[in-house]
Amino acid sequence: MECVRRLERKLSPDEADVTLVTPFAYQLYLPLLPQVASGVLTPQSIAVSLRRSKKYRTRIIPGGAIGVDLKSKVCVIRTITDQIVNEPYDYIVLAPGSITRTFDIPGLTDHAFGMKTLAEAAYIRDHVISQLDLADASQDPVERASRLQFVVVGGGYAGTETAACLQRLTHAAVKRYPRLDPGLIKWHLIDIAPKLMPELGDKLGSSAQEILRRRGIEISLGVSIAKAGPEEVTFTDGRVIPTRTLIWTAGVVASPLIATLGAETVKGRLAVAPEMNLPGDDGVFALGDSAAVPDLAKGDGAMCPPTAQHALRQGRHVADNVIASLRGGPMRPYVHKDLGLVVDLGGTDAVSKPLGIELRGLPAQAVARGYHWSALRTNVAKTRVMTNWLLNAVAGDDFVRTGFQARKAARLKDFEYTDAYLTPEQVRAHVEGTSRQD
Ligand SMILES: Cc1cc2nc3c(=O)[nH]c(=O)nc-3n(C[C@H](O)[C@H](O)[C@H](O)COP(=O)(O)OP(=O)(O)OC[C@H]3O[C@@H](n4cnc5c(N)ncnc54)[C@H](O)[C@@H]3O)c2cc1C
Repeated sequence: MECVRRLERKLSPDEADVTLVTPFAYQLYLPLLPQVASGVLTPQSIAVSLRRSKKYRTRIIPGGAIGVDLKSKVCVIRTITDQIVNEPYDYIVLAPGSITRTFDIPGLTDHAFGMKTLAEAAYIRDHVISQLDLADASQDPVERASRLQFVVVGGGYAGTETAACLQRLTHAAVKRYPRLDPGLIKWHLIDIAPKLMPELGDKLGSSAQEILRRRGIEISLGVSIAKAGPEEVTFTDGRVIPTRTLIWTAGVVASPLIATLGAETVKGRLAVAPEMNLPGDDGVFALGDSAAVPDLAKGDGAMCPPTAQHALRQGRHVADNVIASLRGGPMRPYVHKDLGLVVDLGGTDAVSKPLGIELRGLPAQAVARGYHWSALRTNVAKTRVMTNWLLNAVAGDDFVRTGFQARKAARLKDFEYTDAYLTPEQVRAHVEGTSRQD
């Protein structure tokens, strides 16, 4: 969206047609997803409209790109009505982000939930509340115990924020369930690494752990999942946790769209030049989680981390380079010095490290929320988020389970459409086949 808006603003309509391929009619601000899962924000408030103004002239194709043929410059799209269409291009900017990274762990992809899409966040919220409802109604102590334990895997900022925000949800909600023993509710946060969020440094990292432990979240480090089932999860240290809730936030991997190009990748991300173009292929650009953009500010061959901080700036920068290339001007390399990290643990609990300054508590929370708030693109989205924060601070949550997604398939691939893509050979065969028919 950052790229599209810049292209619209800087290019005249007779200079270029801009087309956006997107399955959803919104720009999602992912860093606030844990707050949607915990009910602090409504889903709508972080789904920023693509059609807010009548000045927007981009043609929007509702669907997902399932392959790109670099040779004939065609993007293959599956529309939301399941039609496969070819979209020829002169320039293409790939920004499909990433999907949840999984491993070959028995039962994982069938039983784990991710935290990458709005549907997943809304689903997890309903699921967690339904565990309280079902435990409350059950007469079976074994069932109750398994419904009231929750496991989050991945101690990066996404997993830590998710565990922290959802623990606050169950802690507050249980007061409305007088028949439930609050002592039975248990959250586990586990990570194979020896530390939570190592990018925070030792002192802030331990502060975050201290906050979570004080709240009763059991943190296990150096531990992962050996096996996942519908009613229990086995840790690699041998513990078997009765649970119906496994949230998997152990990293991301570039969208499968990138592999359809058959081009060079670095850890699955498209290997691009510092100008974010694909060397040797005219008119191909990539950014964000799906691209390995060299981090020139850090040097030493580092690549930019998969963060919104970089993706938003890369979106604007890539637009400038597309325009430069279109007009025959020089492209500029992307350089951005990381501004630091903010971690919202809910309420007044937070740790932040803006520009290397270590903050805790209220100042850290003010920086975290101020940063996310200013990153939202429209004033309407900003107002919605601010109003939600105020309302939640004053009136709390009503713990309403909407049931919209109940009984739907809820595996990672159902939410993240990971099996929708073509192989590079299928893309070629499809493009050649359709051009012969034409
Ligand atoms: C829970 C969580 C918390 C986070 N917290 C922070 C934080 O505090 N700070 C920070 O800087 N970063 C944070 N991040 C990371 C940050 O959100 C991502 O790095 C950033 O969103 C990447 O931007 P992107 O544009 O590359 O991809 P995305 O934001 O994922 O956007 C990709 C878009 O492409 C669409 N799409 C996907 N596949 C296709 C396809 N085949 N065809 C068409 N469209 C497609 C998607 O629907 C989506 O709209 C967090 C991430 C998560 C999940």
